[in-house]
Amino acid sequence: MTPETPMTRKVRTRIAPSPTGFLHLGTARTALFSWAFARHFGGDFILRIEDTDVARSTQEAVDQIIAAMRWLDLGYDEGPFYQMQRLERYRAVIDQMLVDGTAYHCYCQPDELEAMREAQRARGDKPRYDGRWRPEPGKELPVPPPGVAPVVRFRNPLDGDVSWDDLVKGRITISNRELDDLIIARPDGTPTYNFCVVVDDWDMQISHVLRGDDHVNNTPRQINILRALGAELPVYGHVPMILGPDGDKLSKRHGAVSVMQYEEAGYLPEAMINYLSRLGWSHGDDELFDRAQLVQWFDGAHLAKSPAQWDAAKLNWVNAQYIKAMADDVLAPMVAPQMQRLGVQVTDGRLVAICGLFKDRCDTTVALAQWACGFYAPVKADPAERERLVTEAVRPAVALLADKLADCDWTRAAIASAIKEVLAATGLKMPQLAMAARVLLLGTSQTPSLDAVIELFLREEVIARLRTA
Ligand code: GLU
Repeated sequence: MTPETPMTRKVRTRIAPSPTGFLHLGTARTALFSWAFARHFGGDFILRIEDTDVARSTQEAVDQIIAAMRWLDLGYDEGPFYQMQRLERYRAVIDQMLVDGTAYHCYCQPDELEAMREAQRARGDKPRYDGRWRPEPGKELPVPPPGVAPVVRFRNPLDGDVSWDDLVKGRITISNRELDDLIIARPDGTPTYNFCVVVDDWDMQISHVLRGDDHVNNTPRQINILRALGAELPVYGHVPMILGPDGDKLSKRHGAVSVMQYEEAGYLPEAMINYLSRLGWSHGDDELFDRAQLVQWFDGAHLAKSPAQWDAAKLNWVNAQYIKAMADDVLAPMVAPQMQRLGVQVTDGRLVAICGLFKDRCDTTVALAQWACGFYAPVKADPAERERLVTEAVRPAVALLADKLADCDWTRAAIASAIKEVLAATGLKMPQLAMAARVLLLGTSQTPSLDAVIELFLREEVIARLRTA
């Protein structure tokens, strides 16, 4: 599809997570695509919670999903809708289908179905429901066994094909012979997964369904049911899975797969959005772009047919670019909570400048927080590094520096002069003094320029740390 393709109906997309755990990166990516697509066409984006798996659904997972959507700032126009609050509606549709003859009761018991499948397998056939309770003109149905609650099955067409033009995969055609009569209500009357999705997409007037390609097998069934209901079909786009570096589907084994874990680990939502959008979609060679550009470009074209691979190093690079580009006073309030998680409270306004000095060398706000903590709480140097750099030869210079810093102006220029005076007085080279001072101040010799670092410390703190030499 191109941006010029006229839309015949209002664009309405949805994300429909099952609240059985945190928001998975793959679902977040689908949410992002659905959101961007709706925004691009001035349509609506809907959040639907598919909570009919009562045993595995939890309120905590719902809360986590909503928190992750909020963190990524994927605003939805409608919802959250909960399937468990729509049971009456599903029942009403099933009742109507029974009346219309597009669904029927089936009284087969589990052992009977098992025997049916056994016999089919023995004959070398594919196991499938044989339609014994399916009403046909002129067919005599068995007598319902007493005391057995029936399931409801959808009367799937027997012949012909189901085809759709998938936004991602192109034309897909499945023969109806591959599909048997799906159970749409269990013996207790509760509707099954594929059926709820269909009624929801219909009622919510979803125009485009973007979802993981693990749902491709559900689509022909859903299309047949939508047709039986006389509903307008959405356009489907099945996005390939995200794979881990080893080529398997991305899972916990590969590291964090929960969106909110990335917040904790110091990733910026804008960087996540940028990185996720490039997993399975592209706009030329563009790697760094903001949300507004994404919305401008995301028209449903250029979705990749082949799976994307998770690349932690690239995510870090993208995140680093966002950190570097971010104004220090915007960054500081994101770093402060990370410091708090590390047990350090920011008590003054120095953090903004500290962020400015260190952000170029950090790819997460956690890394930045670790540096910043060194200005507010004691640091521990690697003993070997300390012994190597804080030598007998350097100690008098460090002591002299502490003396000079005790009463110089607290500006970078004055601090630089004090350092130079110490070098002149002791005959040491800058690296000898600077490396030792850095280790004493921040625990490592790999820091930005010493005068800039010292300026961001409180005077007493610098002197106290240098005196530990
Ligand atoms: N609840 C499904 C899932 O979490 C989504 C189904 C759909 O998008 O149609 O995978």
